[in-house]
Amino acid sequence: MVVIRGATTIPCDQKEEIQKAVGELLEQIESRNGVKIGEIVSIVFSSTSDIHSYYPAKAAREAGYASCSLFSAQEPDIEGGLPLCIRAMLFVEKDFAPKHVYLRGAKVLRKDLDKFNVAIDGPAGSGKSTVAKRLAADYNILYLDTGAMYRAVALYALESKVDLENEAAIVDLMRTLKLDVVYENGVQKTLLGERDVSEAIRKPPVSMAASTVSKYASVRMKLVEKQREIASKMSCVLDGRDIGTFVLPEADFKFYLTASPEVRARRRYDELTAKGEVVDFVELKAEIIRRDEQDMSRALAPLKQAEDAVLIDTSDLSIEEVVAAVKQKMQEKI
Ligand code: C5P
Repeated sequence: MVVIRGATTIPCDQKEEIQKAVGELLEQIESRNGVKIGEIVSIVFSSTSDIHSYYPAKAAREAGYASCSLFSAQEPDIEGGLPLCIRAMLFVEKDFAPKHVYLRGAKVLRKDLDKFNVAIDGPAGSGKSTVAKRLAADYNILYLDTGAMYRAVALYALESKVDLENEAAIVDLMRTLKLDVVYENGVQKTLLGERDVSEAIRKPPVSMAASTVSKYASVRMKLVEKQREIASKMSCVLDGRDIGTFVLPEADFKFYLTASPEVRARRRYDELTAKGEVVDFVELKAEIIRRDEQDMSRALAPLKQAEDAVLIDTSDLSIEEVVAAVKQKMQEKI
């Protein structure tokens, strides 16, 4: 048995609008899921309390769904809820991964029912990780910080005293790399062997080193394989430089965040000084610009906006505003 969800809205509370919207919703659910009427055991409808003129269940029966059991109920009034909304839950005698259907601006209430991936790319300090963490928490999905993986490789290379510009030596080093990404209470921990390096990889010298080692194909392909494996198993939001263009070109939602170098450097400066690091703002800004250039000019999977990614300049936006803009865009795409 599979349960398919769907929802739609009507422009005004009229019998004809309800009939039209219900017919359209059921037809879309059927066609997108390859379900036949005979396989539907039951349909439960709920409608918001501003709908009085007709029963959605009756509209369904008239649209040909007479062989299954039908039921309509009224939803409680929820402040901020979508008006004039009809929801449906179809119980289908079949085993498959359901595609839930949301039409005419209706919203998904249970984001966790569908597996989806969100790709957030952009330069250092554009706000990717803050936004990604918020989305992951709000949608109850995994956050994968791919930069942490490149940083771990860089830390390993630095501690092994390998020349970062010597590709052959880095290739060699990759053979003994034991990198793991684990989660503790939803928070990503990066491990090198048994050692938790989540803090150590944030130290300023590791940033530039990560950018240097990330240009090598042997490094990228090993990490990208791991990233794709994680993303294939569960809904997650990934942030990085090449998620929308290379790691997951088929990601359901793609964003490219950017901000002026001044703003990005200021954010990094505040972040580092809050942790007690002593940093020079001018140097930090110059380093961020150099790192971006290196990330944008490498041959394999450089930092760039995917053609189908939504661009958001976060220079003058608060975190709340960026998160709201991202969610709004996701909602529009559903
Ligand atoms: O995002 P973060 O600053 O932690 O990334 C560190 C470096 O890792 C970046 O400057 C970039 O060179 C590299 N990186 C990458 N591809 C990703 C994520 C990070 O090349 N998907």
